[in-house]
Amino acid sequence: MQTDSPALDAWYYDGLSSRRQPVRLGVNGGRLLLDGPDGGRDIPAAGVRVSEPHGSAPRTLRFAGGHAYCEVRQGAELDALLAALGQRDSIAVRLQSRWHWVFASLISVGLILAAGYFWGLPWGAQRIAPHVPITAMRTLSNGALAQLDKYLLKPSALPEDRRRKLQDGFREIVAANPALFASYGEHLALDFRAAPKIGPNAFALPGGQIILFDELVALEIGDAEILAILCHELGHLDKRHSIRMLIQSSVVAAVAAAWFGDVSYAISAVSAMLLNSSYSRDMEREADDYAADLLRRRGESPALLASALEKLEAAHTIRYAEKDRDEDDKEEDHADWFSSHPDTGERARRLRKSP
Ligand SMILES: [Zn+2]
Repeated sequence: MQTDSPALDAWYYDGLSSRRQPVRLGVNGGRLLLDGPDGGRDIPAAGVRVSEPHGSAPRTLRFAGGHAYCEVRQGAELDALLAALGQRDSIAVRLQSRWHWVFASLISVGLILAAGYFWGLPWGAQRIAPHVPITAMRTLSNGALAQLDKYLLKPSALPEDRRRKLQDGFREIVAANPALFASYGEHLALDFRAAPKIGPNAFALPGGQIILFDELVALEIGDAEILAILCHELGHLDKRHSIRMLIQSSVVAAVAAAWFGDVSYAISAVSAMLLNSSYSRDMEREADDYAADLLRRRGESPALLASALEKLEAAHTIRYAEKDRDEDDKEEDHADWFSSHPDTGERARRLRKSP
């Protein structure tokens, strides 16, 4: 057999019976030559269809205009024959057969998942958050606060008159902006706690409660600055940031739970999120803008929030320096304002520039 590529052995089936015959295959002048006990056949390349490879199973060569086919072992010989025949594997086969393409597809899948995580999930959460009923958020908040009270927080020791002054200021802000707080109604409240393990801090629970720590009030900080921080927390509340983060982390936790088959992971992820209230940078900026707007409406400067942020950061820097010195202090670092409120310098500059 005169061929362009080395001839190879195959099994020939007539497609009508289960009988098989050994044949030799080769290529000559762009035509497939088939040489067997029943004589030879000569098939134009366009009339040959090759099955896609599956593992190491033999591949099938079918011929146009009949039932007959050949089974051929995979390998370099078949590849050479197909090449001589001008037949190339489909793109899918070529991609599958090369590890770096497989790797590239894995990376693409990773990127798609990441895009879903970074854009799809926040997008979805932003749309769902306004529809979460306030009662559900209250239930969540009460549960979270009960946990925090049990493990981390203590009753406030602030003098009554200081508390009353701050309460009055808070109510004034709320009363001046009734439309903004319509959804929280009477649930919008300022509460006080001491938190020696956490330090100067304030945070908003998704149900509408803002918790202010004695440690923050104890700083050399004016009431106007404290109220500026409360305005920032009101921004997180009005924009429903915590519920959005909660939806996002619940989805991640639910997926992770399904993946690892562990429900406790989901629960701890949700609690950790509530405790750390780790908002995105965009959310912080949004809450800052919101606070700046509230402050301007009160006839005050957004710079109040800038200086409050700087004082908080300074207090936390000292706190950590002291912690580092004290080797025996094995206490865990819990949520602090600055793990959740990064880039103080940049934010302060932005607030001071704000008109
Ligand atoms: Zn914030």
